[in-house]
Amino acid sequence: MEKYLVKPKNKINLSQIDPNDTSTFDGDKNSAKNKLKELNNKIARLQEILFAQNKHKLLVILQAMDTAGKDGVIKDVFEGVNPQGVKVANFKRPTEEELSHDYLWRVHKQTPGKGEIVIFNRSHYEDVLVVRVHNLASKEKWEKRYQHINEFEKLLTDEGTTIVKFFLHIDKHEQKERLQSRLDDTTKHWKFNLGDLKERELWDEYMKAYEDALNKTSTDFAPWYVIPSNKKWYRNLIVAEIIVDALTKMKLEYPKSEEDLSGVEIK
Ligand code: AMP
Ligand code: MG
Repeated sequence: MEKYLVKPKNKINLSQIDPNDTSTFDGDKNSAKNKLKELNNKIARLQEILFAQNKHKLLVILQAMDTAGKDGVIKDVFEGVNPQGVKVANFKRPTEEELSHDYLWRVHKQTPGKGEIVIFNRSHYEDVLVVRVHNLASKEKWEKRYQHINEFEKLLTDEGTTIVKFFLHIDKHEQKERLQSRLDDTTKHWKFNLGDLKERELWDEYMKAYEDALNKTSTDFAPWYVIPSNKKWYRNLIVAEIIVDALTKMKLEYPKSEEDLSGVEIK
């Protein structure tokens, strides 16, 4: 999955990364779905051990333009996990109270505890994305945030959290199709916001803001992956593989009982 990693020393250019890429998988869409099932099972098995061991913590960060699949990844990649040990944190427009604190205040509270997986559906990165594109803070302010974010994520990883960050990469044409299909289907209207059309007009500004964020905050301890996401099946497969990899690297083990259970007889 190295292919989609943003290497700290190699700056990426989003316009050169093909959102239609499916090159690391040989089979067709159907075999991809079977493969995803296998990965779902693996994630579920590993998550059970993570929860039982109550030692490691996993933070998954999802960022993307509207319709690129943040909700889809949460539903399709994490299918089958035990909800006891997994939480989703959604970051919407900050409340008055949140705005009266620093921008990491609301974020830090949501990070995983021992044995937990937390998925961020949007994140502190909004504070260098939407905030930058809409001038919600001065340049002088948001420019300092890349460093804050790196230091915040270093703190989390030093204290035992594994962090993986995904940018789900679609192109503007694909977004048009997806917005259109939401518009055409009344059961999808709940997902359609007129405001999304305004954001769409700012596509190029967003791409620039994303590119900067990815280049300035992909670190050895909290790497970014740019996931080609025009094909949902491929997006799911690659994200699932990276999650399996992150969990496997933890060398998870079921905990041993602290009591001597040998010779215990149940009457
Ligand atoms: P959604 O995730 O589609 O439900 O929309 C949430 C909205 O909240 C998006 O338009 C985000 O850009 C916006 N949002 C999230 N975090 C922030 C933030 N820190 N400042 C301003 N807007 C934000
Ligand atoms: Mg939305």
